[in-house]
Amino acid sequence: MKVAEKIKELREQLNNHNYNYYVLDNATISDFDFDRTLKELEKLEKENPVFFDSNSPTQRVGGTVTKNFNTIIHKNRMYSLDNSYSKEDLFDWEKRVEKVLGTSELEFTCELKFDGASINLTYENGQFIKAVTRGDGFQGDEVTNNIKTIRSIPLIIKEEFVSNFEMRGEIVLPIDGFIKMNEERILNGEEVYRNPRNTASGSLKLQDSGEVAKRPLDCLLYQVVTEERKYKTHFESLENARKAGFKVPKTITLAKSIDAVFDFVNYWDAKRHDLPYETDGIVIKVNNLQQQEELGYTAKAPRWAIAYKFKAAQVSTILNEITYQVGRTGAITPVANLDPVQLAGTTVKRASLHNADQIERLDIREKDTVFVEKGGEIIPKIIAVDHTKRPENSAPTMYATKCPECDTVLVRTEGDAKHYCPNEFGCAPQITGRIQHYISRKAMDIDGLGGETVDLLRKEGLIQNYADLYDLNVAQIIPLERMAEKSAQNMIAGIEKSKEIPFEKVLFALGIRFVGETVAKKLAKYFKSIDRIMTATFEELIKADEIGDRIAQSILDFSSDLGNIQLINRLKSYGLQLEVSAAVLENQTEILQGQIFVVSGVFYQMSRNELKKAIEDNGGKVSSSISKKTNFIVAGDNMGPSKLTKAQDLGISIISEQDFIYKIS
Ligand code: AMP
Ligand code: ZN
Repeated sequence: MKVAEKIKELREQLNNHNYNYYVLDNATISDFDFDRTLKELEKLEKENPVFFDSNSPTQRVGGTVTKNFNTIIHKNRMYSLDNSYSKEDLFDWEKRVEKVLGTSELEFTCELKFDGASINLTYENGQFIKAVTRGDGFQGDEVTNNIKTIRSIPLIIKEEFVSNFEMRGEIVLPIDGFIKMNEERILNGEEVYRNPRNTASGSLKLQDSGEVAKRPLDCLLYQVVTEERKYKTHFESLENARKAGFKVPKTITLAKSIDAVFDFVNYWDAKRHDLPYETDGIVIKVNNLQQQEELGYTAKAPRWAIAYKFKAAQVSTILNEITYQVGRTGAITPVANLDPVQLAGTTVKRASLHNADQIERLDIREKDTVFVEKGGEIIPKIIAVDHTKRPENSAPTMYATKCPECDTVLVRTEGDAKHYCPNEFGCAPQITGRIQHYISRKAMDIDGLGGETVDLLRKEGLIQNYADLYDLNVAQIIPLERMAEKSAQNMIAGIEKSKEIPFEKVLFALGIRFVGETVAKKLAKYFKSIDRIMTATFEELIKADEIGDRIAQSILDFSSDLGNIQLINRLKSYGLQLEVSAAVLENQTEILQGQIFVVSGVFYQMSRNELKKAIEDNGGKVSSSISKKTNFIVAGDNMGPSKLTKAQDLGISIISEQDFIYKIS
């Protein structure tokens, strides 16, 4: 037999064994024979390097070291999911879906929501290409080498499937594997891992893929993303993905009504503790893929899917003391310091109390016995007080009147739930917090500088605000604790590089109250430069898309502050991007200003997302459902018949994809 053929045969054998063992859970070869075959293949590949293949089973053992994970922009954004907590929530969702689609003939899939780390696997021509973490949904870290070590993930597709696609799934650590890992750590005198989810996501970012290979990670797949329109339903696409070699949980079920969905919920709420992996709910999706497209996405989540969260775990413990934390905006958060207690696999010592109203509403006092609940969020919360256990000398909680950090008298404006420390430029956590926000990933994303170092730099008197970062030099940093020349250089290089960050991110980084990521994007698009924003009047501000009174007022407060004006001028002098770049402007016009579009059907020249982006880039607005306000419907093939009737009834212009392209060109 020729070497090439032998190599091919061994690879196929090993791929099959991997599949049988790790996906089907059905061993077809002894460990000994598997290792022997793998060694044989390794030897042949070594002797014949021309046949190297990055998707060979020999590449799964790991051993590569990744120092810095590349950031990769997702081709298709990875959204999060809206949550629901009751049957009513699900009915409301169903109603919204029916309204957009104009039909009540719906079919849903029900899936378990496994709790791990989400991953996006890219395949081209049936071959595994790369794996990227969800990150912020727009971009994540490339963890290809680490993911390859997970043997239930096929590197080459077994059967005919779509050829170019992304497979989305959850990297999970089975509970028994997690327990074993911890037993070993205890033996070695190491600290135990807190829970399977964090351990799974932490594993993806290990530098040595050989270490990852040792962990019993698994990957459960739940979505196929492809432009090839081979399958009509989500269910069908997953069934075929399973045939192609992916580990798609068999628990996926079709349901024709929310009542049927609820049967699934009730069944798994009781049975979920028998599963080998942790779950925190179920995910319900509209099964028909074209309907999914019609429904589209909100700013955060698909409209065609919703998560149902199982009731959270609860426990009672004693609240020892209420302390107060100061956030970067000066907002005060009361914190309950608890007698440590085990809850859903973690030790809980602290819980958030939100604000003064919450403390008053629940009448929470120090030394009370309280019920603590942990849902999906990392910080547990107190949901009630056990009044039967209240000590006799108990007195109502007096909320803090002064800032615990700088002793300034706290303020609370009408209608605001939170107290604030108004000492914006003199209160340590506010100074540090603002700079930490500025350098954070979703903002300026400065490499080589972390939150703790910011605090250190402030304590050393080297920075008081984010503009000061740009005056730092290597010589000032090296003498600091735990700083070497190399890390100092990296930090300065990272700061320097942030001068290229686009305007919308800089705007978000400034930390103007209520100006989050989405608002910053809208403002950047509408005003195009910081100068226009800083000089805009209240009336001008509220004209921008989605800018209400509260945000406008906050921007005015920011722009009328002399300190802020000076900061912005300094940022300008350092060369930061304080206006929308020419390249971005070039693709934008205002020709669709004030016009509202609904997009429906299947398109050929542009993807649906490109079409929507083109509408927005040219000043138009995209809406998900037809109403009197709609100006145009861009109709592709297979536009829903009920939509068509509605559009005709309302006398809305229906234009084709081509008409639309003429319109903007
Ligand atoms: P959340 O992080 O709460 O917004 O929920 C979204 C995440 O749920 C996704 O990023 C996935 O990682 C995870 N997930 C787990 N199981 C599923 C599933 N069956 N379908 C969709 N998402 C899932
Ligand atoms: Zn303060």
